[in-house]
Amino acid sequence: MPNRLVPTIALALSLAAAGGAQDAAQLMLDPAVKEALAAAKSNEPHFIEEQIRICEIPAPPFHEETRARELERLFRQLGLRDVRIDLAGNVIGVRPGAAAHPNLLFQAHLDTVFPEGTNVKVTREGDVLKGPGIGDDCRGLAAMLGVIKALDDGKVRTPGTITFAADTGEEGLGDLRGTKNLFNDSLKGQIDKFISVDGTGLSIENAGVGSYRYRATFKGPGGHSFGAFGMANPIQAMGRAIAKIDGFQVPSNPKTTFNVGRVGGGTSVNAIPFECWMEVDMRSAGKDALETLNTKYKAAVQEAVDEENRRWNGRAPVTVENELVGVRPAGNTPADSAIALTALAATKLFGSGTLREGSSDSNVPMNMGIPALTIGGGGLGSGAHSLNETFDIGDSWLGTQRALLLAVALAR
Ligand SMILES: [Zn+2]
Repeated sequence: MPNRLVPTIALALSLAAAGGAQDAAQLMLDPAVKEALAAAKSNEPHFIEEQIRICEIPAPPFHEETRARELERLFRQLGLRDVRIDLAGNVIGVRPGAAAHPNLLFQAHLDTVFPEGTNVKVTREGDVLKGPGIGDDCRGLAAMLGVIKALDDGKVRTPGTITFAADTGEEGLGDLRGTKNLFNDSLKGQIDKFISVDGTGLSIENAGVGSYRYRATFKGPGGHSFGAFGMANPIQAMGRAIAKIDGFQVPSNPKTTFNVGRVGGGTSVNAIPFECWMEVDMRSAGKDALETLNTKYKAAVQEAVDEENRRWNGRAPVTVENELVGVRPAGNTPADSAIALTALAATKLFGSGTLREGSSDSNVPMNMGIPALTIGGGGLGSGAHSLNETFDIGDSWLGTQRALLLAVALAR
């Protein structure tokens, strides 16, 4: 098949230095791209139906397999090559370009935050769809399928390759396990750029807020509050730790935060406790700021225990165990990078969009220094992560078109 894009792309490349604005606009004039963009719009009603259908296939945390098998079937039906499901449950399919590289990984996530047994029936009132996960991220999945179909309808040939994926474990304790597996195992060393379509609207996220989450358990022998008085106390040690954490000074740019969110433990008001625990969450889009905070936290907890034990002359010493219950790597794609400029320029052609912080699958490649963005899939969403989540279709095809143009612009 002749590579209809190459001349336009050579021109586009020469314009890239001008800020990426013209190259996205130029690309829209390419006949194949034009046809694909038109298909993205005319196919939209079908993919709205797909969005509903996919949303009604449950994909609770750690159990995305039924929805994954359906995406695998759709990837095959849409003509992707080398369609497979990897060990982390990610569905992968390739749309080869003229060359293997650059290889753009373009994905949306399968999982929801809703537990098994949640009623996932979607209801519709006019343009408004209501159902858990309808926007986050069934919209992303539908937009991705719409892009694949429209590229095919337009017979768009890209110089580089686009690898599509429907990934697992984006939400909460899923800990980005799907994307981590793509970059560390199934597509290791193969990906040059990354786009995740997550949620709605025309948003662009170029900063990935990372986090560390701990559950710290403090233990000692415990005893009678009167009779055994004079021994170290796990709750009092934890109190010292919390006071130290509360005193942390953190940068406001990048915004860096900490929170002791839950505490528990103790036996009775008249017993020296033998155990207590706290759960702590720390976040930042700054990789270094987050690492510094993590180091400070661990030191503070240990110091608190040491102080408590010194206070009671080492009698029945308290110990602490810090269990890491979540890690989300931090990172960001510079606002003046080629991928960010291209995304801003492409977005301008369909609406308005600015760069902002987020926390999603992009954190993984951003942390590795791979150009990455998370974009919205169009339409208007509200109530993400709630049972009352809604998706207003509106001009949702603009989201599919923007994603398509960006995919073509980056697969080169
Ligand atoms: Zn999401």
